[in-house]
Amino acid sequence: MSPNITLTSLKMASTSPLILRVVATSVVVANRAGEIIRDIMSKGDLGIVEKGKNDLQTEADRSAQCSIIASLSSQFPGVKIIGEEGDSVSSDVPSDWNVTDSDPSVLALKCPDNLKSVKEDELVIWVDPLDGTSEYTQGLLDHVTVLIGVAVGNKAVGGVIHQPYYNYLKEGAPLGRTIWGIIGCGWGGFTIGSAPKDRRVITTTRSHLDATVQSALDAMTPDEVLRVGGAGHKVMLLLEGKANAYVFASGGCKKWDTCAPEAILHAIGGKLTDMVQGESYHYHAEVEHRNSRGVLATAPGEDHSWYFSRIPESVRQLLSGSSTSSR
Ligand code: AMP
Ligand code: MG
Ligand code: MG
Repeated sequence: MSPNITLTSLKMASTSPLILRVVATSVVVANRAGEIIRDIMSKGDLGIVEKGKNDLQTEADRSAQCSIIASLSSQFPGVKIIGEEGDSVSSDVPSDWNVTDSDPSVLALKCPDNLKSVKEDELVIWVDPLDGTSEYTQGLLDHVTVLIGVAVGNKAVGGVIHQPYYNYLKEGAPLGRTIWGIIGCGWGGFTIGSAPKDRRVITTTRSHLDATVQSALDAMTPDEVLRVGGAGHKVMLLLEGKANAYVFASGGCKKWDTCAPEAILHAIGGKLTDMVQGESYHYHAEVEHRNSRGVLATAPGEDHSWYFSRIPESVRQLLSGSSTSSR
């Protein structure tokens, strides 16, 4: 990088609107988390803990979250950060886990007027340090993502999805990639694909299937079902045109699973809602963590209301019964 570009980046890093600085920093922070995830896998001791039924945590989840929260909270001390593995920041974070750089291409974006003057206390950052833990422990490494979502008030506005193992089976290809998006502002790190026109491809859970999930899936009369791990990975399939919709009639996903993917999907014209009322989830700091009304996401150009109309009434009833708050 030339000295001029470095100086320009430094100046932008201090003068760009907060939302751009948070997303730009999150890109670099997510890359560092991805390195930590790969390092732990290559050392071979995953330190698996069972958090609940069908819900694992590894040393990689813990360490990646520690790096992400330490980095973001030291740079944005007034922003509320909610992480899947708890919100506390350990005092002995290795110094090379504390990231201070930011992505210059995000800093250089033109910020839409409605986001220009957003303040730290209006933001909530939702962190899933390792989405697809079950698949990580089983060696399905390309299902794994790092998710950092940024909400303003109720709304998911910006997001970063990092895939630490992107290209890991392609010899010589660069390992890992990071995609990002901000609604009304831009997106990057991937090429938008068009969803299949002549067939209906639906993606859903690989490790959390039950009768309700299956009955909603059947009601969509899919030509093909892609069962893969992680909310981040499934929304990636929509972004890249590999699936038309993501259907998950379960309250198992949490706000840290959907905030970043939803923001990026909305930035490119797709849609993610609950399955009871067809509304966007809220992402303010006090909201229920579970997405108890299920997740229905559609690729850009798909008729979201068609998918919504196919959800069986029995499924809607079950999902609305398990909800403890309005969103
Ligand atoms: P999946 O599509 O099954 O990979 O799930 C997407 C995200 O939601 C992952 O972070 C899962 O850990 C989480 N998730 C989904 N269902 C459940 C569940 N029943 N219990 C715990 N976590 C779940
Ligand atoms: Mg997750
Ligand atoms: Mg996780």
